[in-house]
Parts: sequence; C-alpha cells; structure tokens
Amino acid sequence: MTNPDVLIVGGGIGGLGAAYALARRGLAVRLLERSAEFGEVGAGIQLAPNCTRILDDYGLLDEAMDLGVVPDAMIMRDAVDGSELTRLDLRDLERRYGFPYLVIHRSDLHAMLLRACERAGADLVTSQRAVAYANIAGSANAPGGARVTLADGHTEEARVVIAADGLHSVARKLMADDQPVSSAYVAYRGTVPTSGGRGAGVDLSEVVVYVGPRCHFVHYGLRGGELLNQVAVFESPKARAGEEDWGTPDELDAAFEQTCDFVRDGLPHMWRGKWWRMYDRDPIMRWVDGAVALLGDSAHPPLQYIAQGAIMAIEDGWVLGEHVARHLAGDGSVDWPAVLAAYQAVRPEHCRRVLTTSRAWGELWHLDGLPRRQRNVLLRERDTRDYSFVDWLYGPTALHPSDEPPMFTPVPLASAKADPLTVT
Ligand SMILES: Cc1cc2nc3c(=O)[nH]c(=O)nc-3n(C[C@H](O)[C@H](O)[C@H](O)COP(=O)(O)OP(=O)(O)OC[C@H]3O[C@@H](n4cnc5c(N)ncnc54)[C@H](O)[C@@H]3O)c2cc1C
Repeated sequence: MTNPDVLIVGGGIGGLGAAYALARRGLAVRLLERSAEFGEVGAGIQLAPNCTRILDDYGLLDEAMDLGVVPDAMIMRDAVDGSELTRLDLRDLERRYGFPYLVIHRSDLHAMLLRACERAGADLVTSQRAVAYANIAGSANAPGGARVTLADGHTEEARVVIAADGLHSVARKLMADDQPVSSAYVAYRGTVPTSGGRGAGVDLSEVVVYVGPRCHFVHYGLRGGELLNQVAVFESPKARAGEEDWGTPDELDAAFEQTCDFVRDGLPHMWRGKWWRMYDRDPIMRWVDGAVALLGDSAHPPLQYIAQGAIMAIEDGWVLGEHVARHLAGDGSVDWPAVLAAYQAVRPEHCRRVLTTSRAWGELWHLDGLPRRQRNVLLRERDTRDYSFVDWLYGPTALHPSDEPPMFTPVPLASAKADPLTVT
C-alpha cells in the first residue's frame, strides 16, 4: 500500500472499530499500534443495545453473542446489607430497543474486531508509536491531508488521520491543553471459573452491581458462562491524601470491610497484583483539527460507571463510516471535510452527556450515611419498566444533532421520585 486513505493511530477497541467501519466502505485503511502485539488487558465488558445494534449492522452480532453471555436482568443491590434496590429486565429492554444487552470478554471483542478488520483488508501494523501529528497544507478544493511522525523518525501520510490513542493521547494536544482527571478511585478485576468454588454458586443470568459507601462491586458471566467476571472499585484514602502509592491491596480489603459477606468473599479472587487507577477528562467539544480527528478515549475517556466507554468508541467509528457512505463519489473519492464536519457536529455533545452522567452516577453509587438511605428509598420506589433515563443512551446512535433525544431535566436527588441520573 502507498499512502492509505485513512491512518488510524491506536489498535484498541476504538481504533479497530473505526478501521472496520471505514475499510468495509472500500477505503484503504492503515492502523498503527505502538505495542508489539495486538491485545486487550482486563476482563469483562458490557455492551448495551446502542452497541449491539452496530455489531448487528456489521454482521458481527451473532459471533459476539456466541462469545459472550446475554443475561436476563441487571440488578442493583446495596453493598452493605445485600438487599435489592432496583433492576432492569434485560429481555424487556431488548424488546424496547431491538437489540440485546451483552457481556463479553474484552479480549474476545478485541479479537473479533481484529479478525473483521483483516477480512476487510485493513493494513494493521504493530510496534509503531506516534509522537507527532501535523496537517499538510492544501487548498479548499484539494485538502492536503495529515502526517503522523513515528518514534523511529519515519512519517506516514493520509487524507485523514484518526487518533484512537487512548487516555494519554498525543493528538489531543492539537485540540486541548488538558490532563487526565484522577477520580481517586481504583478498580480491581478478576475472573474465576464457574465449574467450582466462588464461581459455582453465582446466577449468571444476572449482571449485579452492589453499591456501597465509596465502593462498588460488579459481577457477571463471560464466555458462554464458563467464567465469572468480578470488578471491585473503591476510593483510595491514600490518593485523597496525595500519596504516590495508592490503590494497593490493603486499601482494597479496608474499603470493603463493612460490605456484605458475598461481596467480601469475592475480594480474594480479584487479580490482586494489578489495579486500574480511574481517570477521566473534562469533556472537550472540538475533536477535529484539519484532517486529524480524535476517536474513543482520546476524545472522551469516561469513568466507567455507565459502561459506555468502549461503546462510545465503537459508535464514533460507525458514525464516521455512515458519513463516508453519504459523501462517497462515484470515483471512490470521499468529501472528507463534510464527513469530519458531520462527525464533529454530532458526537461531542452526546459524549459530553455520557461523561458528566458517569461522574454523577458514581456519586450516587458511592453515597454514605443518610444520603445512602435516601437513595435506597428512591431506587426501591422506581418503576422498573421506566426506561426514560436510558432512552438517550440505548436508542439508535445519532448521525445528526437533530436525531438526539431531547435532554432530560435533571431532578435534584432529594426530591426525585424516579431516576435522577441524567445530568446536563
Ligand atoms: C474497570 C473498567 C471497566 C470498563 N467497563 C466498560 C464497559 O463495561 N463498557 C464499555 O463500553 N466501556 C467500559 N470501559 C471503558 C473502556 O474500556 C474504554 O473506554 C475503551 O477501552 C477505550 O478504547 P480506546 O480504543 O478508545 O482506547 P484504548 O483501549 O486505551 O486503546 C488505545 C490504543 O492506542 C495505543 N496507543 C496509545 N498511544 C499510542 C501511540 N502514541 N502510538 C500508537 N499507538 C498508541 C494503545 O497501545 C492502545 O492499543 C471500562 C473501563 C474500565 C477501566
């Protein structure tokens, strides 16, 4: 391949999703990944209907469902006493939105997207670390494209560069002078077999989140029910005190001391040698600079509380692919300024809502004392068939700003009757 139409930097779920979305439109796509091998770390990931709808459009949904688990219910419990607070009937949710709620191993999702990219003819190159981005001068009729400089000094050029280079994105410096924001929370993850021990007694038809004071615990099944995935998240006192060495296993055990037996019994089964400090960034509303565009966590790294980070990245790629299809001339050329303008017009506002809602959701989950008891009363009262608070998330991905459902008015927690969970 000489210069491709599109260069994508970063081979995570976002980069691969975009590579597939564009390669399936017949574009020449080259993806540059800094690691020596493609892969994903971590365990489970939840894919809501706004993502499974896209996987279906890609012809990948059946494969994803074979690799994962389609649970029947999502249940929220109080982490201290273990009691149920509220639930979503995921089969009913599937009927409402037309597509299932799926849980899948990250490495299975990543490998599936990698295979799809290979089939679509994308050029996937490892050991390529991007260090700089630049637009190439052109004219209104002939935009110049963009250039990426790699760590070994060589450069690559294309009509468009998509930077899917994650939380610490190099390309983001073109758009914003900001830094990741530490939440002082840390996540431990782990999987156990369901053939015996801890994994054997757990109902895999449920995704369960236990919400507690400054902590929460999530579990669900993976790989057709062979594995139980567990995630333990807590606020680190050492992080709050400004100490460097934060999120250590002693803090994990202390954070969950007051939680119920089921939650505490899960802690020895976490991967205790590795933990993920949780950062997001403040939303930015400009993702495109000339022929360079941000995608995925480089544009909108969230706290993961509403499980939309990878989904937003997959949606970003799908939106680009749809607009390419609408701006593709008979000779195969693409009106890239129009594509990028459409992408810029619709994606940042949606993702801003996800980022701010994720932060608010985390605050609600981690309440203590009287606010925790008030929250529990409200959640027990909610109509479990009320989906108004997720329509804007789980409905079809918008291609134009006018497709987005209207913003819900935020309801102050103390007076809320239903779901005070969407913020502006
Ligand atoms: C505990 C936890 C649970 C989560 N659960 C969910 C969930 O249930 N559902 C969901 O949708 N999301 C979830 N997320 C969020 C989700 O994991 C991320 O939002 C998503 O993986 C981001 O994908 P990405 O491809 O944009 O970025 P990344 O996964 O960070 O990928 C970036 C890629 O770019 C490469 N790269 C970086 N810099 C360079 C460079 N300079 N040159 C070349 N390559 C480079 C990296 O090696 C990497 O491969 C969760 C996150 C956490 C921490």
